[in-house]
Amino acid sequence: MKLIKLPLKKEMSLGTWTLKRPAPPEVLRVPVYGDAPFYQEVKVLPGQAVSFGMKLAEPRGAMGVPVYCPANGTVNGIIKTRTVSGENVFAVEIQVDRKNAGAFLASGESSDWADISAERLRAQIKEKGVLLCGRQLRPLAGYLEKGTFHAKTLIINACESEPYVTAGEVLLLAHPLEIIKGVEILRRAAGLEKALIAVGANAEQAVEVLKSKIYFLKWNHIEVRAFPARYPQDDPAVLLPLVDPFFSDIEPRVLHDWPLPDIATVYAAYEAIVFGKPFFERAVTITGECVVQPQNVWLPFGIGTMDALKACKGVLREPGRMLAGGPMRGSAIQNMEQPVSAMTDALIALPKEWTAESAEADCIRCGECAEVCPVDLSPALIAAASKRQDWAGARELNAQQCLGCGNCAYVCPSHLPLVDLIQKGF
Ligand code: SF4
Ligand code: SF4
Repeated sequence: MKLIKLPLKKEMSLGTWTLKRPAPPEVLRVPVYGDAPFYQEVKVLPGQAVSFGMKLAEPRGAMGVPVYCPANGTVNGIIKTRTVSGENVFAVEIQVDRKNAGAFLASGESSDWADISAERLRAQIKEKGVLLCGRQLRPLAGYLEKGTFHAKTLIINACESEPYVTAGEVLLLAHPLEIIKGVEILRRAAGLEKALIAVGANAEQAVEVLKSKIYFLKWNHIEVRAFPARYPQDDPAVLLPLVDPFFSDIEPRVLHDWPLPDIATVYAAYEAIVFGKPFFERAVTITGECVVQPQNVWLPFGIGTMDALKACKGVLREPGRMLAGGPMRGSAIQNMEQPVSAMTDALIALPKEWTAESAEADCIRCGECAEVCPVDLSPALIAAASKRQDWAGARELNAQQCLGCGNCAYVCPSHLPLVDLIQKGF
């Protein structure tokens, strides 16, 4: 498969492995996902006092998960909003009691989980509201119960091939033992025999630390394997055929949507089982050339970008663009109040001079875009069909197999918006 080597720029947020929390914000807009596959129902009313750790929404039916309150405060209302990661959701807007916002206090590690049945592990993961935070959010317990697993192996996607993003890597470096225990919890909860942690070769130190911890624990059923530090190595369509040739016969677009837990998911499951912690926050990389102190921090779901940036002492200068997620596939943040969700792994502030739009020119048929397409499409031809609104032609060229990775647009000397054009074609 054709992958590209991007400037990684990860070192700027790897200076510290200690994850801080920002000061309590004035307002949180906690996302609630009402539709399938979440099935949640808001249980609080405007004007109601809410407390840290209480349930804001209850599950409806077997597949739902509860949503927990990240701070003490009062409900302003139930609003419709769009998260920084681009999900259209309902959110519970909370006026936070900043002098007494509350915090989770872990009361000693419980090792009982080693004797708990798979069913009870899943029930606890569900009760604590843990979501699978990969490419698409979904209830983790439902995935562990009904997910599709090959060769009785749980695959953890710890490859972070987007530039700048280090939220998973820093958890691996700071909490390797907790991550391995989290993987073991998920393996047992899914009733599987083995687990594989797939890590990008750029996180070399994390790979070595994980291997030594597994050796120490004698848990030989957990394997750590390094994969090329190329983009988009973390796309399941790219990763899975390298893990096992079995996946080579499955269409790339099907693999693209294959759910794989990431490190944020593993850590949340570990904390849910070992400390009984509800899922109300996650590790997020706050970085970019405009950030004063780029680093990874714990962000509560519902915090706005402006409040999150304060954990890194704000910005040095006005960013040209704020992104949620990496620069290749991330979403542009439209306003600084949009809430962070469980899907948000990074907030990136890029300088103006880097984000100025380059003028589009005609295709010069250089073929560069086809050279870097990981699924061997002809981006220039599909884009041309899309411009002509020849949707049948675009489909014949397999536009529907596009992974949306952005490699083609990244290398195009004519600055054509290839991803947008291609995705119109299916
Ligand atoms: S965005 Fe689609 S067409 Fe472009 S390189 Fe990626 S997979 Fe290929
Ligand atoms: S990279 Fe751009 S200019 Fe070159 S063939 Fe592809 S679309 Fe045309």
